[in-house]
Amino acid sequence: MSLHNEIQKKAAEHLWLNRPWVILTGAGISTESGIPDFRSPQTGLWNQYDPMEILSTEVLFNQPELFYKIGFPVLMQFKQARPNLAHGILAGWESRGIVKGVITQNIDSLHIEAGSKRVLEIHGHLRTAHCMKCLRTISIEKLESFVRDVQIPPRCRCGGILRPDVVLFGDMLPSSFEQATKLVQKFPLLVIGSSLQVSPANLIPSLAEKLMIINLEETPFDKKAAFVLNGKASTMLHFLDEEIKKLEEKA
Ligand code: NAD
Repeated sequence: MSLHNEIQKKAAEHLWLNRPWVILTGAGISTESGIPDFRSPQTGLWNQYDPMEILSTEVLFNQPELFYKIGFPVLMQFKQARPNLAHGILAGWESRGIVKGVITQNIDSLHIEAGSKRVLEIHGHLRTAHCMKCLRTISIEKLESFVRDVQIPPRCRCGGILRPDVVLFGDMLPSSFEQATKLVQKFPLLVIGSSLQVSPANLIPSLAEKLMIINLEETPFDKKAAFVLNGKASTMLHFLDEEIKKLEEKA
């Protein structure tokens, strides 16, 4: 057995012995579903746009046309994606008691679609939108049809501007962020597909006592982690899942 496989096998034992885990996912878990992340070279969204600028409250409030003509279509592309093997394995681990819950920075709803039950979406989601004036909630499909057919920026019947329920740069974090910080202090943390560079989500690993990381590239928290597996999320999780199944059979 290669050293690489030996480390992955030990990581599977570590996961099994210290269960249940809290999972923190970033854009990297959804790249295999066809959604580019923000930072990978060549494919990262930042090579085409500057999300910090366009997907911001500053632009939404002061240049809503720019937000709806450039930023909103980028977000809506995420709606075409379907969960991949990695999302599916995590949903299975929750039903088998290996995962306590998933904290995600993603807005693509793919964990929920894959069957995960306890999901804390700390950057919101693309299922609904609301009016910034009267707070009326509408479906994202309705918002999309307003943008397509009626007007930019889309307006509520009260005259207020409508916005998707995602957390934009410059927004306050939702209450799910506080719940996430509490959860991560009770259980070990497995981070999957995050550069851990975006604040304040990168505070979460600093609160965890036990840490493990699966990512294609290095992160600033690698030194803190008991195991760092550098590879694709689906490949790594599939290997770990096969090893855990053997341990489950023995138990
Ligand atoms: P990031 O872009 O900063 O980092 C993604 C990391 O995933 C990178 O380090 C990359 O090496 C790694 N990666 C890429 N493909 C991988 C794979 N197949 N397996 C394992 N690792 C892989 O992403 P982030 O840390 O999540 O932060 C970016 C912000 O962008 C978040 O706030 C998030 O809300 C938002 N975002 C969300 C989506 C989405 O909903 N799918 C997509 C893009 C950006």
